[in-house]
Amino acid sequence: MTSLDIPELALVALVGISGSGKSTFAHRHFAATQVLSSDAFRAMVADDENDQSASAEAFDALHYIAGKRLRARRLTVVDATNLQPHARAALVKVAREHDVLPVAIVLDVPEPLCWERTQARPDRTFGRQVLGRMRRDLQRSVARLGREGFRKVHVLRDVDEIDAVEIRYEK
Ligand code: ATP
Ligand code: MG
Repeated sequence: MTSLDIPELALVALVGISGSGKSTFAHRHFAATQVLSSDAFRAMVADDENDQSASAEAFDALHYIAGKRLRARRLTVVDATNLQPHARAALVKVAREHDVLPVAIVLDVPEPLCWERTQARPDRTFGRQVLGRMRRDLQRSVARLGREGFRKVHVLRDVDEIDAVEIRYEK
């Protein structure tokens, strides 16, 4: 078992390419109400979780709700790829505004496995190249997270390790 220590009150950013298992991880370890997913917010604002043209509005709403939750001192998990510096900067900002520690959990799963999983999903239709681009963004991201303000950065690379994770809350 691998224990991941996170503060009792944190803004947890999941970071990973499509198919890396972010939503699965979030579902396994956190209450549904603690998880703000970009897909769910796209669906809320545009009736389609895959409508990328709705992303700006969806993230605007997500950040707003994250702020409301952090203000109420509630642990909040952001289930989005979080591969772009500007996407993460918005999360660090909202965490700081509420004196909450931003934490990153990176699912750095081998790309071929993510692609295999993606192909098996009816709700994902993008091509292999898109995944390759995400993978390059991920590699750049991992090196920067600490400097960006994330107070804890957990990088999980091994699939068995990911399945054996236990979240431990620090007081
Ligand atoms: P996206 O960014 O596209 O939303 P994601 O990172 O949220 O992707 P998931 O939806 O959690 O990925 O997982 C993608 C697929 O991989 C799903 O079909 C899921 O069942 C499978 N999967 C995820 N995690 C695991 C795991 N630990 N073991 C086996 N299968 C997994
Ligand atoms: Mg997902």
